[in-house]
Amino acid sequence: MTLIVHKYGGTSMGSVERIRNVAKRVAKWARAGHQMVVVPSAMSGETNRLLGLAKELSPASHSAALARELDMIASTGEQVSVGLLAIALKAEGVESVSYTGWQVPIKTDSAYTKARIESIDDARVRADLAAGKVVVITGFQGIDAQGHVTTLGRGGSDTSAVAVAAAMKAAECLIYTDVDGVYTTDPRVVPEAKRLDVISFEEMLEMASLGSKVLQIRSVEFAGKYRVPLRVLSSFTPWDIPIEEEAKSGTLITFEEDEQMEQAVVSGIAFNRDEAKVSILGVPDKPGIAFNILGAVADANIEVDVIIQNLSKDGRTDFSFTVHRNDYARTVDLLKAKVLPALGTDRIEGDTRICKVSIVGIGMRSHVGIASKMFRALSEEGINIQMISTSEIKTSVVIDEKYMELAVRALHRAFDLDQAAA
Ligand code: ADP
Ligand code: ASP
Ligand code: MG
Repeated sequence: MTLIVHKYGGTSMGSVERIRNVAKRVAKWARAGHQMVVVPSAMSGETNRLLGLAKELSPASHSAALARELDMIASTGEQVSVGLLAIALKAEGVESVSYTGWQVPIKTDSAYTKARIESIDDARVRADLAAGKVVVITGFQGIDAQGHVTTLGRGGSDTSAVAVAAAMKAAECLIYTDVDGVYTTDPRVVPEAKRLDVISFEEMLEMASLGSKVLQIRSVEFAGKYRVPLRVLSSFTPWDIPIEEEAKSGTLITFEEDEQMEQAVVSGIAFNRDEAKVSILGVPDKPGIAFNILGAVADANIEVDVIIQNLSKDGRTDFSFTVHRNDYARTVDLLKAKVLPALGTDRIEGDTRICKVSIVGIGMRSHVGIASKMFRALSEEGINIQMISTSEIKTSVVIDEKYMELAVRALHRAFDLDQAAA
């Protein structure tokens, strides 16, 4: 008997009818003899609705002081989903039981709204599986050492599912969503995007970290660390298609790289509108400056992404970096209060209307000239590049947000992804 984990996203759980459909699909897998653990998200729009209520009561709902309560609120979306799915399964004649994160328990650290899973106790779940039940576990949440409910960050149900699959040594984790796999780029932005049959784990890791929200980055990290076989597929196929067909559909995240993969120089394009740029002008060009600025930011638990420092003129230079937009105001306040006075400048500028567009491909390791091809394609569209960051298998540029779609389409064309074989 193989143990399989299914994860269903918000759209897939979006209505009573869709939940019934999910139940029928899961029942099909259970009847075929698999032990099934199912991890659903909140119904689509529900997490936004819940967080919106909090915002109505306190516009400062992003503040750290309220984070615990936000998790208390947001976690309820998934609680409703597991209950409904367990009922729908019983209506299909399948024994089932639902659990929230704290009931399993899924233990996390205490970083509210972006907690990390530390351990999962599988005893209760195993006992239910052994008793022939389908176990339905909330995505997106856990409990910390003090017993507070935590959530794992937006899109975190992917991570719950992969972590459960890892803890239970499942044969496979299937991520059912509203597209039929991982595409060369977001098919909602570029209709010519092509579905990939396989994508290497490393490329998926980059795509997710660079903004492709089809999988939350931490779910991919978990899959890598514990070698969880992972597949992204559609929840909108007819529920009664043969299991063998369904099990081969979508996109497999593979840990093996072959020559063909390296030949496709660029496999995908990711983009991210969630960042903002902060520039400090006229800082002294001497040792310790980057540490002074970024050390203070890191101490406030704010993640920094792209960083550039300009050539110095007369012993002074400009220093720019990007942070998540939600952290932007906090970053600027903190720098003004704690860092700028010591640097002898008060010139700080910010831009929240930027985006980051990235090309990703393991073939970039063995090919030269890829970045320049990217820059040429952008220049041909008249798009100015504000910042650049590269690593072995990706090149990212920060540009004006208004050119994002144009840039993604131009790059998709320039790297022949419109023609990529499915
Ligand atoms: P779910 O609710 O199932 O978790 P998400 O909305 O979180 O679904 O993720 C699926 C969405 O990810 C798709 O609808 C698509 O718009 C978006 N997406 C972004 N990049 C990609 C990509 N490279 N391939 C497929 N989908 C992508
Ligand atoms: N419901 C949560 C969210 O909207 C988690 C998830 O869908 O993965 O972010
Ligand atoms: Mg998601």
